[in-house]
Parts: sequence; C-alpha cells; structure tokens
Amino acid sequence: MITYTIALIVLTIILLFCIARTHASTKPIAGCVLRLLISALLPVLGNAILVVGQTRALSMAGYILYFIGTDVMLLFLLRYAQVYCSIEHIHLSVLVTSYVLVAIDMILVLLNPLWYHVFKMHPITLNDGSTYYQLDSMWYHYIHLSLNYVLVFAVVSILVYKLVTCQRLYREKYTVILLTLGVVAIWETYYIAANIPIDMSMIGYVMCGILIYYFSIEYVPYFLMDRMLSNIVSNLSDGLLFFDEGGNCIYANDSAYRLFHIQDSDPEKLQHLVSDLLGEDPLPLDPSRIYTRTYDMGTQKLTLEFSQRNIFDRRNLLIGSFLNIQDRTDEERRFAMERYLATHDKLTGLFNADHFYQSVARLLEENPDREYLMIGADIKEFKLINDIYGSRTGDAILVKLARTIDHYATPESVYGRINNDKFGLLMPKDHFTEELFVEGSKNVPYVEADMNFPIVIHIGVYDIKDRTLAPIIMLDRAFLAIASIKNDLEKRLAYYDDHLRDDILWEQKISGSLEEGLRKGDVVPFLQAQVDPSGKVRGAEILVRWNHETEGFLPPGRFIPILEKNSMIVNMDRYIWESACQILAKWKKEGKQDLYLSVNISPKDFYFLNIYDTFVELVEKYELDPRLLRLEITETIVMSDIQNRLKTIEMLRDYGFILEMDDFGSGYSSLSMLKNLPIDVLKIDMKFLYQTDDPMRGRTILDLVIQLAKDLDMPVIAEGVETKEQVDFLTEMGCDMFQGYYFAKPVSLRDFEQSFYFEG
Ligand code: C2E
Ligand code: CA
Ligand code: CA
Repeated sequence: MITYTIALIVLTIILLFCIARTHASTKPIAGCVLRLLISALLPVLGNAILVVGQTRALSMAGYILYFIGTDVMLLFLLRYAQVYCSIEHIHLSVLVTSYVLVAIDMILVLLNPLWYHVFKMHPITLNDGSTYYQLDSMWYHYIHLSLNYVLVFAVVSILVYKLVTCQRLYREKYTVILLTLGVVAIWETYYIAANIPIDMSMIGYVMCGILIYYFSIEYVPYFLMDRMLSNIVSNLSDGLLFFDEGGNCIYANDSAYRLFHIQDSDPEKLQHLVSDLLGEDPLPLDPSRIYTRTYDMGTQKLTLEFSQRNIFDRRNLLIGSFLNIQDRTDEERRFAMERYLATHDKLTGLFNADHFYQSVARLLEENPDREYLMIGADIKEFKLINDIYGSRTGDAILVKLARTIDHYATPESVYGRINNDKFGLLMPKDHFTEELFVEGSKNVPYVEADMNFPIVIHIGVYDIKDRTLAPIIMLDRAFLAIASIKNDLEKRLAYYDDHLRDDILWEQKISGSLEEGLRKGDVVPFLQAQVDPSGKVRGAEILVRWNHETEGFLPPGRFIPILEKNSMIVNMDRYIWESACQILAKWKKEGKQDLYLSVNISPKDFYFLNIYDTFVELVEKYELDPRLLRLEITETIVMSDIQNRLKTIEMLRDYGFILEMDDFGSGYSSLSMLKNLPIDVLKIDMKFLYQTDDPMRGRTILDLVIQLAKDLDMPVIAEGVETKEQVDFLTEMGCDMFQGYYFAKPVSLRDFEQSFYFEG
C-alpha cells in the first residue's frame, strides 16, 4: 500500500510537470493534450481518496470520482486521437451520441448511493492494518466498462485507420501512441481480471498520460525528418551535388542528372560535365561567388546558375560541400522579354524613342570618323487617315512603314519609332541615296483595297555636322526639314540647312509678335495710287506694312506667306480692312467722297470668315458707300468650294461692292475662268507678262486679254507699271487704269494725302 501511494505521488508530480510543460508549449496539439492530462488527474484523485479515505462514504466518493474521471479522460482521449490523426470529418451524430452516452453514464454512476446498481463495497483490512473498501461489481458496472471499452476501441480504430492509410514515413508517429495505449490496456485488463484488491490501474493511466505528452509535445521524429530531408533533396527542382571533403561527388539529386540529361545517375560523369562547363577543375568553387553559364542542349540553350556552399559539423569542422545548380532559363527569357519591351515599340517592334537616341549616341561615339545622316520620316496627314479610316488602318500603315524602313535601312544604321507617325533613322552618309528613299517612301502603298487616300511619306535629312548635339536635336532638325515641305505636293524629301532653322525661327518670331504688332499699331496700311489715263488719281490699293518692334520696317513678302501658312492672316486682314474703312470714313467727313480704296483678300479669309457679313458690317459701321471699298480677290479663291465662293461674290456685288480680279494671268485657267466669274474689274500685273522670254509675245497676250475684257465689259487695271513706254502702249490697247512705280510707290496715309489728296 505504501509503495503504491508513493508511486502514485511520484507519477502525479511528473504528470503535473507534464501539464506545466504542455501549457507552455505552442504546438497546435498542446490544447488537446493539456485537457487530456488534466482529465487524467480526476481518476487519480479518486484513487487517492480511496487509499486515504478509510471510511465507507469517502470510498464511495472516491470510486464515483474514479468512474466519472475515467469517462471524462476517455472522451478527451478520443478528441486527442482525432486531432493527432488530423481526422476532422467525424460525423456529428457519432460525436453527439458518444457525449450523450457518457453523460448518461456519469449520471447513473452518481446515482449509485441510491440503488447500488454499479457497485457495492466491503471493507478489508490490509497488511499494514489500514482499511480498504473493496469494490463488488453490480450489473451496471459491466455496462460502464463496456462503454469505456467502446471509447477505447474508437480511439484505437482511429489510430489503426491512420496507421494503415498514412504514408510509410508517418507510421512511426501512430505506432508509438498505439503501443502506449496497448501497454496501458493490457495493464488495466490485467488488474481488472486479476481481481487484486487494490486497483493499480491508475499507474497505467498516469503512464499513458506521460507517454502521450512525450510523443506529442517533446518527441522529435528524427527518422521522419531524415526521410523528409532526403526526399526534399531528391525532389528539389534545383540540381544538387554533394561532395566529400576530398571534393568527390558522392551524391547528386535527380534534378542534377535531369539537367544534364545523364541517364545512369553516375555522379562521376556528372562531376566531369559540371567542371568542364565551369572551367574549374577541381571543384569546389569560390563559395562567395555565383557562376552563371549557358549550356547548349542542342535544341535549347539553358542558363544555369552555380553556387557552392561548404558543410560543417557541430564542431565547425569541414565535412564536405554541396553545389547548387539553378535553372535560370525561364527567368533569363523573361528578363530578355522585359528588356525588349522596355526598349522597343510595341506596335512596330522597332526601337522606342529613348532606346533609339541612346543607340544613336553610342554609334556616333564608337565611329568618330564616319559621317552620318539623321533621317526623319513622317506620314503626311496621318491624323486625318486615322480619323477617316480608323486607328486599325492607321496602325497597319505604321507597321507597313516600319517594315519598309527595316527593309531599306543598312546594317550599320539604327532606327526607331519616335512617336505617333514619326520615325527616326541614323545612317552612314555613304549608304544614303536620295533615290532609294524617294522610292522607299513610295513603297508604303494603300493598305486596304477600298482606301483611295494616297499615303505620302515625307523624309527630312540632317547631315550631322555638329556631333555635340543631342540626338533628339539632330532628329528635330530632320523634322524641321520635313516641316519645310509640308505644302509642296510633289516634294517627298528635304534637307535641313541652317537657313531652314533661321526660317523657322523667323516664322516663330513673326507669328509670335503679330498680336502685339496689331495692338500697338505697328502694322499699318500703305496706299498706292491708281490713276486714269489722264494721270488723275482715282483711288488706291491698300498694301500692308509692318514697322516691327525689333526687326524694323517689313514689306509684306517677309510676313504674309507665314501668316497665310498658319492662318493668322485672317486677324491681320480684318485689321487692315477696318483701317481702310477708317480712312474712307475720315475722308468722307472731310468732304472727300470721290476716292476709293481697294483691299486684298486672301483665300484663307474665305475659309475662316464669313466674308459677306464681315464687309457688310464694316461699311454699315462706318456708314460708307460700298462702291468705295473695292475687294481684290485672286483666282485661287475659287479653286475649291466653287459654288459657295461664287455665291458669296455674287452677294457682295449685289450689295454694291466692286470686285477686282487680282494678279490676273498668274494662274493657269485664267481665260476660261474669266467668263464664269462675276467680276467687275480685271487687274493685270505687268510682271507676269514680262516673265516670258519674248517681250513681244507678252505684249500680244496682253493685247488679247485687254480685248477680251473689253468684250466682257470689264475695265482693266494694269499694275506694276514702271515706264512711260508701258503707259503708252497700255493706253493704246485701251487700258483704263494704271498702278505702278511710274506713278507712285506705296506710301503712308500722311504721304499719300500730302501728294494727292489736296491736288484736287
Ligand atoms: P499684290 O496684291 O499683287 O500687290 C501689288 C504688289 O506690287 C505690291 O507689293 C506693290 O508694292 C508692288 N508694286 C506696285 N507697283 C509696282 C511696280 O511698278 N513695280 C514692282 N516691281 N512692284 C510694284 P507689296 O506691297 O510688296 O505686296 C506684295 C503682296 O502682298 C501683294 O501683292 C499682296 O498679295 C500681298 N498683300 C499686301 N498687303 C496685303 C494685305 O493687306 N492683305 C493681304 N491678304 N495681302 C496683302
Ligand atoms: Ca492686290
Ligand atoms: Ca496684284
């Protein structure tokens, strides 16, 4: 009895220690184990009461606690087994049934003092003289035991099931627990069967708790880990070669053999191959470095990365090393792809702008003695093509152009797509021929059959004289050259020169300062007298002059073409027309009603202004007779949108304006057009007639034109009249009016008034 008590106390202390350790453990299973261990204390406590109780009542309580404690412990054991074996899918009804049965069992055990259906007791005196109440089983005790065995059976089943179904590797894990239970079960059965007066089974329970604690919380399954590690090594996608301290390959994993297509798993063969590839014999390598090599597999090029690590034992002695081989082929390919995307244009596959400029800089630097051209290409009206035919067609054209550039560029050139429809190409000067490029630019034909829009490629060439310029500036210059051909239908290719740059700077200056010029009154109307054959001044043409703030006095030739190009002419003309009206209004106020003024109208004015409304508003504002404001138009006005233009002209005439055909004879279709144009006066410029080689021929034509005008009842004004001789023959031919240096140059209003105004 004493030994039993001591054994029980010692085991209980150990159990308490296990409980404390389990409580501190962070393993997921710890909670389960903890509950199981604590529940094991219950029957132990029951037993302790039995041993020290001595009285009938306490013994009764001890037995009851023992029975109930066993129930609770078995329930927790079941739960533990379930968690330990990771079996989550136990059916709810099974669980509920077992809980209910155990609960009923507990109640019936508790009711034993009433009915004695579980057990009775009879006192015995032990060797040491103490009293011990021995248990006499009644019918229900067997039911209780059966229930216990059912629970134990369930636990064992779970473990056996796992043991059978799990991978071989894991069997150890379940076997240890099963063995533990087996030992306890045998111990237990023995005590029940042997009918030894004192129930020693408690020792079994506690032992069981301790073992379960040990295997669940403390035990490190080295065998399992070894197996796992070697599995990991052989399954690793990296190739691994292990070397002994002498540098001999003692093991290589499957991946290593697979990488090098070695079938017979011969480590020596593999070692040779690897050292050949690395050019390092003998291995090992410098462990601080990573070696990258490409390995030609015939069909495929592998990119492999090698790194070697030394292996030390616990005392820090070198025991060998391993070589890690990583297959970087996919990564390398991805890098290459990313590099490609970062440097190339997605649509055409050509270099993108950044990469093009970088490549240009490099090529120029690497070949300092070679001469290069920077060439820009641009699709005329690309935006329009995109708008009309859609961006898919636009894209197709861009791709086509890219292919063409690809085709015509020589191997020593670099080229790329800069943006939208702009392409750049750097080419050795001696590879370039103008013909090639003009031909090439024509080889980007219609992309779609139903597309009747001529695709015109413009090419600008900058001969790189100044290599210190940034590539982007070089290409800008090529595009400046293109800007200079914008309105020339025939021209495909233009060269940059410094004049071009000056021109463009000039254009920018003019366009940029017009607004201020108009506001400050720097833009002024000059007047050139128109006289009749008797020499009397009948009127004047208004010709614009610009007293530019920084550039001085500018004739219209210096700025009108620019303003026409960018349509700013409209603002200037509106201003000049109003100035003309102000002069007429002033003269009217001063009682001079007989002089008319004629103003010039540019084709762009028709495009952007409602000409009829504008002039009607002007004469109404200044209360003028429309016949005093003559309007000079040129043939080009009716080149497009003929019907509307003719209508406007008709309306202006109906209102009372007099329309003059300016620069007659400068165009092509003049004579035939004359019949259809509702014009009042014909202006013939002498300079167009004297452009012919044969002055006599010119005169004949002039004669004819004047006759034709007479037939059509149109007065003729000859402008550009410089000599007395011209005046004479023009008079003879029947010319009605003259304008030219012979009579007067264009002058300011003040000068004009001083010269002619007062004379009569
Ligand atoms: P245009 O309308 O044909 O004007 C006649 C040009 O011939 C004027 O040149 C005039 O100065 C010049 N001229 C007159 N008599 C003679 C002569 O005997 N010999 C020579 N060699 N030239 C003579 P200007 O003033 O330089 O004007 C040039 C052109 O600028 C004008 O040609 C006209 O097309 C345009 N222009 C002038 N002012 C205006 C304006 O206010 N609005 C618009 N839209 N265009 C204007
Ligand atoms: Ca004119
Ligand atoms: Ca003219």
